[in-house]
Amino acid sequence: MSEAAPRILVIEDEAPIRRFLKIVLASAGYDMLEAERGRIGVEQAATSAPDAVLLDLGLPDMDGKAVIAAIRDWSQVPILVLSVRDAEAEKIAALDAGADDYVTKPFATGELLARLRVLLRKRSAGQGEPAEIEAGALRINLAARTLSVDGRDVKLTRKQFEVMALLMRHVGRLVSHRQILTTVWGPAHVEDTHYLRIAVGHLRDKLGDDAADPRYILTEPGVGYRLKA
Ligand code: CA
Repeated sequence: MSEAAPRILVIEDEAPIRRFLKIVLASAGYDMLEAERGRIGVEQAATSAPDAVLLDLGLPDMDGKAVIAAIRDWSQVPILVLSVRDAEAEKIAALDAGADDYVTKPFATGELLARLRVLLRKRSAGQGEPAEIEAGALRINLAARTLSVDGRDVKLTRKQFEVMALLMRHVGRLVSHRQILTTVWGPAHVEDTHYLRIAVGHLRDKLGDDAADPRYILTEPGVGYRLKA
């Protein structure tokens, strides 16, 4: 008895991209549902309960962010956005509206599938947070508030620990500046990206990480950070 294939809803107006995604997703063992308009996509998300949504932000009938907001009204289904290159503001707005991550068009299929796997894993991880999270050489204990790298304890300030805990809870996924600042410093500090830059700089020093060739913390320029899966 095999488990049912995860179902991915693709909301994308360009038929060639839908055809391409159908082949890519089928080869990875997913079933694909499709909608070529935002309004139909929102309906489909409600009626067919997909395991994840791939959303093109440039749709003819509805703004992509409005599609995200409509789905987020009632569903926490993972949403992966397909956005065009160099549209930082658009990506940020999509994340703020409730998208989980994005890939930039033209996307590499390997990257798309990897991002999708991370989101599906998060979905199936279910309820209840473990006290300890491991990611490669990193191990964080959320109850004892300790972090170790390769078994070596690293002493962090309270804010540094909270930034690290947030990244580790979302390992492999993009976490936006806004999300980190709101969670760690509070909503009043949502624009204070320098706090975050300084904290991440200190974290990298303590982890022995290199921003130019990161082993742990990846910078998504202008958007946020991602802990390597
Ligand atoms: Ca489009």
